[in-house]
Amino acid sequence: MTQTIHLTRPDDWHLHLRDGAALQTVVPHSAAQFGRAIVMPNLQPPITTAAAALAYRARIQAAVPPGVQFEPLMTLYLTDNLPAAEIKRAVEAGVVAVKLYPAGATTHSDAGVTDVRKTYKTLEAMQRAGMPLLLHGEVTAPEVDIFDREAVFIERQLIPLRHDFPELKIVLEHITTREAVQYVHAADRFTGATLTAHHLLFNRNALFTGASGAGLRPHYFCLPVLKREAHRQALLQAASSGSSKFFLGTDSAPHAAHLKESAAGCAGCYTAHAAMELYAEAFDGVGALDKLEAFASFNGADFYGLPRNTGTITLKREAWTPPVSFAFGAALLKPLRSGEVLPWRMV
Ligand SMILES: [Zn+2]
Repeated sequence: MTQTIHLTRPDDWHLHLRDGAALQTVVPHSAAQFGRAIVMPNLQPPITTAAAALAYRARIQAAVPPGVQFEPLMTLYLTDNLPAAEIKRAVEAGVVAVKLYPAGATTHSDAGVTDVRKTYKTLEAMQRAGMPLLLHGEVTAPEVDIFDREAVFIERQLIPLRHDFPELKIVLEHITTREAVQYVHAADRFTGATLTAHHLLFNRNALFTGASGAGLRPHYFCLPVLKREAHRQALLQAASSGSSKFFLGTDSAPHAAHLKESAAGCAGCYTAHAAMELYAEAFDGVGALDKLEAFASFNGADFYGLPRNTGTITLKREAWTPPVSFAFGAALLKPLRSGEVLPWRMV
């Protein structure tokens, strides 16, 4: 049984850091593990200009602990009105991607896209510039069952979009279904996908049952919502398949604990405090620890056309219990599996 693994320093290709006092808690967690992270732009108001992205980057950098190397990779939030000219300014500012949220799909997505055709001029500019489009791939039509929203998005929106933009780099973010895995496997080199640790580790039973019996578990609620076991198995197969199209994106999404433990709890799982430990557990569970490095440290950088990191991290098979909660501004932040023992530890 493997006891210790050394990996090239990994990157997180999908991360929510929030803003303000929250940065002091969450930035050090990600910076301790990852060399870089793609930072989501769904603040209030959303990041829709290169200038706002640069200002946000500076606030993040100010929260990186001294002596730690961590590069936030910035994104813009696509709206119906994001001008094509902003793409040129974004490229010049070092912004690396644009995120599409269908309006109403998840936290702070009210400004999202109501009809993708309204954004075609901007997407043309991105295709020319080689700038990736990052998709929250769920339809929001109320008649579509929440467990089917990703599969329906692929049929109704992604397939036509891909037809109209054959060379636009597209990352299907935090995929959760067999349908998404099949779509990405069959796609060409312009398509990639990120996978979260929590979708690799848990199926939808985790929302309702745990070690202490039945009960509603708001800290397992995220969007896209956890799916059936058959889908989780498909995700594990994809992550450990050796295909370079699949890479690490935690979608770590902090919310104050009282806003999750509520009658209408917020969507999002916080995993940045132990991200690589959780991925190691998932890969170990299917005997694929030897596939973790490419997934975590190579495939994403290669897709984005960025150099791979230098330096390494080490993970050890050693049981430990992360803190039950973290200070989060004036509130508390409870991580996924708060108070539980994790089998892998970063040393
Ligand atoms: Zn996200």
